[in-house]
Amino acid sequence: MTGLILTDLHVHLYGCLRPVDVWELGRDSWKNRVERLEAYAGRLELCAGTRPPWPDYWRTSTGVETLAENYLCTRAMRFEEFEARFALAIALFPVSHERDDLRVLRRVMETHRAEGRRHVEYRYVYPPRTPLTTNYTIKEHLDGVCEIMRLFAAESSGTFEPRLAMSLSRNPVEALTQYANLKAWQAATPEDTRKYLTAIDFSGYEETTDVMTLEPVCRQIHADNASHPRHALALLIHAGETMEKGSVEQAVARVMGAVNLGAHRVGHAVALGFSPEARRHVATRSSCVIESCITSNLIVAGVPDATSHPVREFVAEGLSICLATDDPGIFATDARKEYQVAETILGRDTCARVNARSPDFRSEVLSGRLRAM
Ligand SMILES: [Zn+2]
Repeated sequence: MTGLILTDLHVHLYGCLRPVDVWELGRDSWKNRVERLEAYAGRLELCAGTRPPWPDYWRTSTGVETLAENYLCTRAMRFEEFEARFALAIALFPVSHERDDLRVLRRVMETHRAEGRRHVEYRYVYPPRTPLTTNYTIKEHLDGVCEIMRLFAAESSGTFEPRLAMSLSRNPVEALTQYANLKAWQAATPEDTRKYLTAIDFSGYEETTDVMTLEPVCRQIHADNASHPRHALALLIHAGETMEKGSVEQAVARVMGAVNLGAHRVGHAVALGFSPEARRHVATRSSCVIESCITSNLIVAGVPDATSHPVREFVAEGLSICLATDDPGIFATDARKEYQVAETILGRDTCARVNARSPDFRSEVLSGRLRAM
């Protein structure tokens, strides 16, 4: 009996959809999404060279295989191509009054509970403005998501705890507005619904923005956490994941920037593999936790093979680590496979010890909220 990642603190909701999920959930609604699917096809064609034959996904007997070929990311690729493949799920299941997103959430939670996961923090992009979201409010969105989580947790009788991390824009002005809207929602929402939102995340492509521009919103988050600990939100920042356009030094600087902004956890930080000084600093001068998503890093972060993944150094040098699956559906991995990969790198005992610590790194623990309850 091998282990599995019981507490998964870094997953993106839509990236948890497997090809069969996308196919089944999209079967009845794809005809209403033609315009968005055309945009997805154009985007993928631009970076992969061939146009995905999306109408075949539901019109031919081998449609689900064709969908999988154009959706799954199972070899090393540029971040841009990964995002273009991911765009299929976004095109099909927009956040809107129709609540396709809630069908996605329920399906993903069912899969994760069946795998044996116990606690999962789902990152969810702050709803973008689109023609479909006219009059759609953040209150409607958060109420809907948290209510599904509450019902699902109740029907799981304590065996599965979902949590929500909202992924905000990397544009600092937009981020401040979005954050203010989340705080207003918290203030107006009862505890049994509000409790599911536990973190703020900054994700997406990191190389075209300066992480330090997020300083005002990060400062506000820490100030609010201190004055209102029962509403505290953990600060999560993806940093040092990709080094496609810039140098290793710049990627290390982004990680250190996120650490200096007081991130409770940093996503990936693969760049730290190249800098023993930076690792030492994080290990001894901060309480920042690194989220290691090994399969994801092999596919989009340029790590050539599992044995070269820096997680071994991270653990050996005393950094706090949690193992996570990132986008397991699109990377064709799951909580068990990912644990096995980690075990081959870390060894059985170390891997078990690292995995057992993950509950200490949950957002509601790191933000101080649980202590205040
Ligand atoms: Zn991620």
